[in-house]
Amino acid sequence: MFLSSLSFPGFFATLLLLFLAAGGNGSAPEGADKAITAENVRAHVIYLASDELGGRGTGTEGFRKAGDYIIRHFKSIGIQPVDGSYEHHFHRYRLSLAGVESQRLEYTAPAGMQTAFKIKQHFLPFLTSGNGDVTAEAVFAGYGLVLPEYEWDDYAGKSLKGKIVVIFSGKPEFLSKKDRGVLRELATSLRIRRAVERGATAVVIIPDLKRRSGMTPEGYLWSSLMHTRRSRIAPTISARKGLNEVPVVGVNRVVANTLFGSLDTIRSMFKIADSLRTPPVFRLRGKLHVSTALRFDTLTYRNIIGVWPGSDENLKREFVVIGAHYDHVGISQTAVKGDSILNGADDNASGTAAVMEIARAYTKTSARPRRSILFILFAAEELGLVGSRAYVADPSFPIEDHVAMLNLDMVGRNNPDSLSIGGVNRCPELKQINEEENTDIGFTLAYNVERFFYRSDQASFARKKIPVIFYFTGEHKDYHRASDEADLLDYDKLARVARLAFRTSWRVADLDHRLRYTEPDRRFAR
Ligand SMILES: [Zn+2]
Repeated sequence: MFLSSLSFPGFFATLLLLFLAAGGNGSAPEGADKAITAENVRAHVIYLASDELGGRGTGTEGFRKAGDYIIRHFKSIGIQPVDGSYEHHFHRYRLSLAGVESQRLEYTAPAGMQTAFKIKQHFLPFLTSGNGDVTAEAVFAGYGLVLPEYEWDDYAGKSLKGKIVVIFSGKPEFLSKKDRGVLRELATSLRIRRAVERGATAVVIIPDLKRRSGMTPEGYLWSSLMHTRRSRIAPTISARKGLNEVPVVGVNRVVANTLFGSLDTIRSMFKIADSLRTPPVFRLRGKLHVSTALRFDTLTYRNIIGVWPGSDENLKREFVVIGAHYDHVGISQTAVKGDSILNGADDNASGTAAVMEIARAYTKTSARPRRSILFILFAAEELGLVGSRAYVADPSFPIEDHVAMLNLDMVGRNNPDSLSIGGVNRCPELKQINEEENTDIGFTLAYNVERFFYRSDQASFARKKIPVIFYFTGEHKDYHRASDEADLLDYDKLARVARLAFRTSWRVADLDHRLRYTEPDRRFAR
């Protein structure tokens, strides 16, 4: 900014250059950002978003090829590996049912009559279910809530030891979801844990009676069910296995009717309980047999990582992260005009290409900022920021040495001069630096994307209180569709976004001090 937008007399300019060379609050050298060209970013997008890569779904062959491509690029331009590797590995579990016949739910009435329910139709094991085969007396425990401040305890006075506990999701009318303590307690996972702590050998969850759409079994959806949920085209991936030691199943209205006689009976029972502000009481008779068997296959994924060391002996142990996710959602089950490959050109071949060319720009100039630059291309973002969460949980360097994170996700579409910036309400200085660098680039910046904040990888770093900035050129009708193709991108714009991120990252990496993270004021957070 200094050097290019103001014209100094030669003498001062020389002095300033000397000062910068010695390491001041420096900007990137004049013209260094021009190493980022529209032609180069375009070439990356064309390959990454080609049909050959099949939409880069995490774990697929095309995804592997994309990773290899990025690594080859880093090697060829001289970006260094971390501990000898460009791969940051993490593990996840793919869930499946270990045999449909092993999943059972049966009810034996006091008179001995037995009802066997059907998996998928009447019940589903929960994602967090343990494996087991239990036959025991059933105990009804209302909502399964324990809220001492409201003098409400659904488990009070009940012996749960060795029993199968039946609870309803939902909540008493008078409880407000605005009460944060209440909101936490309403989590199904917590209700299950409370039951297990009290000795339950299995938990059966009936959907909220008050919800109109409800009364279908909730729980783990396996692939044969996924076509009913259009958005779920990815496999069910979990970070942990064995969250619960006991079987947990969700059931539907048929099961509820069988256990309680009729839904109307239960509805009026809950209504009375709500108005009296005392947990509902109902004695369940009979026995349940619950059997669940989930299989967890271990999957290994890789974020791609490379480092450009800083110039300062001490500060080079600190890192400015420039990141983008390189995965996308793969192949759709429904073709549009014969095309079922979701190429993800804007989402997020664009950000990936930007990071690759920012890396090249760093290697093209002899000067270096004092801190190191860490380039990370994240996997499994589309599965819920999985790769970036895995990185901050198990970083390649101490997490406190990551001084800032710049994220580029969908940066190649819409109006040539508009760019949205997110996350900087957590670090006003980063906002200012980016604005200063933008005077030469010339975007019209908008701070209107806080509602997208938790939908990309910067959120994982912000959770660790690391200052972040999120570059985003906005949504469009091709978002997560087969039509998100390379020929719809504006490569001049993409290159300019990358130049801005390059210049901003350089400034941050060369600061005398560290940027400060401040918790955003929720009232004004946009
Ligand atoms: Zn996406």
